[in-house]
Formats: sequence, C-alpha cells, structure tokens
Amino acid sequence: MRDYFIAGNWKMFKTPTEGAAFVKELSETLKGTSQKVMVAPSFASLDAVGKALHGSSVLLGAQNMAAAEEGAHTGEVSPIMLKDLGVSVVILGHSERRAIYGETDELINTKVKLALKHGFEVILCVGETLEEREAGKVEEVVNQQLLSGLEGVTEEMLAKVVIAYEPVWAIGTGKTATPQDADSVHQVIRQTIGKTYSSATAEKLIIQYGGSVKPGNAKELMAMPNIDGALVGGASLKVEDFTAIVNFNR
Ligand code: PEP
Repeated sequence: MRDYFIAGNWKMFKTPTEGAAFVKELSETLKGTSQKVMVAPSFASLDAVGKALHGSSVLLGAQNMAAAEEGAHTGEVSPIMLKDLGVSVVILGHSERRAIYGETDELINTKVKLALKHGFEVILCVGETLEEREAGKVEEVVNQQLLSGLEGVTEEMLAKVVIAYEPVWAIGTGKTATPQDADSVHQVIRQTIGKTYSSATAEKLIIQYGGSVKPGNAKELMAMPNIDGALVGGASLKVEDFTAIVNFNR
C-alpha cells in the first residue's frame, strides 16, 4: 500500500554543469520507471539541475534549508528561495548537519515546521551513532530525534513527512545495517508514530533507509516490510548505480 521513494543526496559533490548533465542522463535511463525519485544537489547546483530536469518526473530536493524566511542570515538559503528554484522536497536533520554543524533537535524542528508551512515535502533524518548503538540506546535516540523533530506537527501535516532512518555508523562507511536490524528500527519508528498520531497515519508513513545503500543490497533492504525506500549518498553519484537502486524490483 505504500509506494517506494528513492532519494539521492549528492552532498558537496557535482558542479552545476556536472549535475545538469547527470540528470539529463538519469531522466533518460529512468524513462518508464514508475518509482518516486528525487535528487538533492548542493544549493549552488539547484538552478542548473532544476532546469535540466524540466519535463522529467525526477523531483528536485534540497539538502538543507534556513530556519527563517528572510533576514540577516549570512550564508543561509530560505524556503522562499528554494521554492522559486523549483525545489519540492527538503532533507532536514541529516547526521552531517547534526554532527558537523551542530544542528539541534530544536533547530531541526523549527525548520521542519517552516518547510511544511511552505508546502515542501520533508525528509526528516534520524539515526544513532555506533557508540549509542553499543550502549543499547537505539530506540531512545531515534525516538527522541523523531518526536523532537516532529514537535507541533499535526497529523494532517505529517502526510508530507518522510522519515529517513540513517544509522550514523553506516553512512559513507560501506557498512550497512542488516535488513532485519534496519527493519526493526523502522518498526519502532512506525509504532511511535502510531502511538503519537494514529495507526492509520503510521501505516501510511514512508520510512526510508539510508547508510551505504548500493545496487547489491537495495533489493533485500526494500523487501523488508517496514522499509519503503532509500536515502542514498555515495551510490547516487553514478547514473548506473542510482538507476539500479531505483529499479531494484525490476
Ligand atoms: C547519506 O548521505 O544520507 C547516506 C546514506 O550516504 P551513503 O549512502 O554514502 O552511506
């Protein structure tokens, strides 16, 4: 009943020229694919990539967004600007934003609400570090990030929220959570949403897995009952790999 959603996070890779050429090729290789697909280039490449995606079903995503609509916020990019560039999805709370740039649950929550107010679809990232996993704190950490990130988000607004479970120790490391381990955390997320909102809303929630997803492991991950797609970093940088992940079920 839930449709798969495969999203690519290019991080700080690909110039505007490279990004535009990439999505032209990707749109060709994905012709006839019914899967929901998104790419998130850097802010600098959004314009060129958005133009190159004209007429394509691939969605344009942003990797982050300012917590304010406008003002004296040097170096930030507002939801109004992203909208103007044709962005429809915003990734928020990525572990690199949390760990390297000190984004707190509170700041992420402000961004989530602002993005929803502006009509974006939000991919809210949650996930534990290796230390937290080894200390047996996976559920605690994931639930804390989830509920803080969604504070003040109504059941109606939640229809535009996707959760990406990304164990930090699996991002860019080549280590993937086993499909069973990932699915059990996805199940926790779904149960928490069920308790906080309703079981009907929890059943509809799209939960992506992220962390070293590749063509070789996408199929078994996607086969799990609570995994509804992927947020892909490294493997979204090559047309061949990303296409193979999108078409995991072909
Ligand atoms: C990510 O950046 O969200 C990610 C999951 O990266 P990778 O696929 O490279 O582990």
